[in-house]
Amino acid sequence: MSQLPSKPVTHPAPRHPLVFDTRALGRQPGTARSETRIVPAPAGLRVALAGVPAGADIKLTVMLEAVSEGVLVTGEAVAPVTGECARCLEPAAASVEVTWCELYERGDGPAAAAGDDSDRHFLQGDLLDLEPAFRDAVVLALPLAPLCRPDCAGLCAECGVRLADAGPGHNHDRTLDPRWARLGQLDLGTGTGRQDGARAVEGPEG
Ligand SMILES: [Zn+2]
Ligand SMILES: [Zn+2]
Repeated sequence: MSQLPSKPVTHPAPRHPLVFDTRALGRQPGTARSETRIVPAPAGLRVALAGVPAGADIKLTVMLEAVSEGVLVTGEAVAPVTGECARCLEPAAASVEVTWCELYERGDGPAAAAGDDSDRHFLQGDLLDLEPAFRDAVVLALPLAPLCRPDCAGLCAECGVRLADAGPGHNHDRTLDPRWARLGQLDLGTGTGRQDGARAVEGPEG
C-alpha cells in the first residue's frame, strides 16, 4: 500500500530549470555559491498589455547562501517582454530586469510545523523551488502601460490613425486652436463661394 500522507506533498523535480539543489552548498552558515542559467520562461507571466512569451530565454543568476534557518536566495533575472503599446496598440517589445531576495526555511525545523503561512517558503529536502518567488518578481515588474517607443504620439483622437504613420502634418480642420475659431466661422461663409464660383448670399461684401 501507499505510504503517501493524506495531504499530498509535491516534491519539485530536481531537473526542473527553476529548481535548485542545495546539497553542494552545505549547511555551514555563511557559505555561498552562485549559479547562472538560461531558463525557458514558464507560461502565464502576463499582465493586461504585456508578458514574457512562454519558453523565451530568461537569464537567471541565483546566489544561494546558507543561513541558520535555511537558505537565503538572491535572484536576478533578465526577461524579454512583448506586448501592445498602450497608446497606439502596435507591438511593443522590451525587457525587464528584476532582483529579489527570499529565505527558504529548512522544512525539518520547528518553523515548518508552525503552519502553512503562504508568505513563507520552505526547502523541500535539499531542493529549492524558485518558481513562485521568481514569478512574483517578474509579474510585478511587467509594464502596465508598455510603449512601442518612449515618445509614441498615440492615435489621432479624431480619426484613429496612428500619428507616427500619419506624419507631423496630420490634422483635421475641426480641431482648430480656439484662437482661430472665429476665423474658422468666416471661412465657412467664403468657402462656399470659392467652391461653386458664386458669391455667398450673406457674404461680407454683399
Ligand atoms: Zn505606440
Ligand atoms: Zn486624424
